[in-house]
Amino acid sequence: SYRKGGYHAVRVGDQFNGGRYVAQRKLGWGQFSTVWLAYDTTTSKYVALKIQKSAAQFAQAALHEIEVLSTIASGDPSNSKYVVRLIDHFKHTGPNGQHLCMVLEFLGDSLLRLIKYTRYKGIELNKVKEICKCILIGLDYLHRELGIIHTDLKPENILLFNTLDPAKDPIRSHLSPILERPEGNPNGGVTMNIIEKKLKRRARRAVAKISERRASMGGAPKSERNLDGIDVRCKVVDFGNACWADKQFAEEIQTRQYRAPEVILQSGYSFSVDMWSFACTAFELATGDMMFAPKSGQGFCEDEDHLALMMELLGKIPRKVAIGGARSKDLFDRHGDLKRIRRLKYWSLDKLLIDKYKFSETDAREFADFLCPLLDFSPEKRPTAQQCLQHPWLNLSDSTQREMKNEPSIEKVNVGMSNLQLKVGK
Ligand code: ADP
Ligand code: MG
Repeated sequence: SYRKGGYHAVRVGDQFNGGRYVAQRKLGWGQFSTVWLAYDTTTSKYVALKIQKSAAQFAQAALHEIEVLSTIASGDPSNSKYVVRLIDHFKHTGPNGQHLCMVLEFLGDSLLRLIKYTRYKGIELNKVKEICKCILIGLDYLHRELGIIHTDLKPENILLFNTLDPAKDPIRSHLSPILERPEGNPNGGVTMNIIEKKLKRRARRAVAKISERRASMGGAPKSERNLDGIDVRCKVVDFGNACWADKQFAEEIQTRQYRAPEVILQSGYSFSVDMWSFACTAFELATGDMMFAPKSGQGFCEDEDHLALMMELLGKIPRKVAIGGARSKDLFDRHGDLKRIRRLKYWSLDKLLIDKYKFSETDAREFADFLCPLLDFSPEKRPTAQQCLQHPWLNLSDSTQREMKNEPSIEKVNVGMSNLQLKVGK
């Protein structure tokens, strides 16, 4: 992909936007871009530099993403809505063409890394709640204040404020930025090697220091991988696929496992598709397993398996919903039963949490009460992010309440809660 129209190859020390940003190390990549940790010499801060592939369709997508991110930034001047902030954007010309670049605030590891870090055992519920609150405040802002649907919410696209491995955190590990590139120096490669070696040595020392401190405080050894002391606040990122609710362009949205039933059935969609993905994400955080991992099989496709898995956990799709989409005729008979998967094994969500994931009965009931309304097959019945934030499971503290702007009055809060409880109790 490092060819004409593709990724821009970056080396440590490369400069961008007239020397303002200096590349430090690769943070990640997606289908359209590579993302680098860079040092902003103007503000003396670290930033994430997202460098788009150069071909026209990628540039178009980047322009769209920049437009969405600019809207997000201007609506939230205090940067308190748990959505990633765009700091700057510019064009960079390289051997593979012209690349649009976005400068984003530097964040830490994704929730997917967090799930892996805890060895797919699931994260303790109090931490899941903290994470859920951040995501919901972000979604409420996007949906209610801006009219934006994310359309690709999943653990990979939610980033923690900090890095799980202290050696990789430029701030905590006190790595000094790499500022010079030995340009025109015939021994350039060697110099870079020395810088990198020095960097690695410093990183190792930083890790040793931190483990030492942990040990002296009686803290857990690294092998246990618990999350004690890790602040689990997070932000929603990746607006490459986001759209305004009144200006949709894609019919097939969302990553497979987080895709809402109305998207599979092609019955039209709105903000509530994000609420479905949010519920799938919360489940995955708490259990370490994806909620739905469909596969095609003999005589049925992935979509059919997906709908069957949904029904096995959430009950039958109401006939009206099942037959209401452009794709319904391919998948359902006129009674609203799947054509090619006939026998379903029903298993309720709270039973699954108790039997498979060893939740206590109370934990399972409370968590299922929180998730089930979000997984309603009728999209318009799903609670909004704002309503969800009022759910007793989240146990809202006063500070979180204050963080939400347009704070609803007490009466409104109560109405919201009883609505939700009615749904939960049905
Ligand atoms: P794509 O649209 O190509 O999927 P993303 O915006 O999701 O791009 O970024 C790809 C990866 O880069 C992320 O999964 C993450 O690992 C890393 N990344 C993106 N933005 C940031 C950021 N602001 N801070 C730190 N890492 C980031
Ligand atoms: Mg992504």
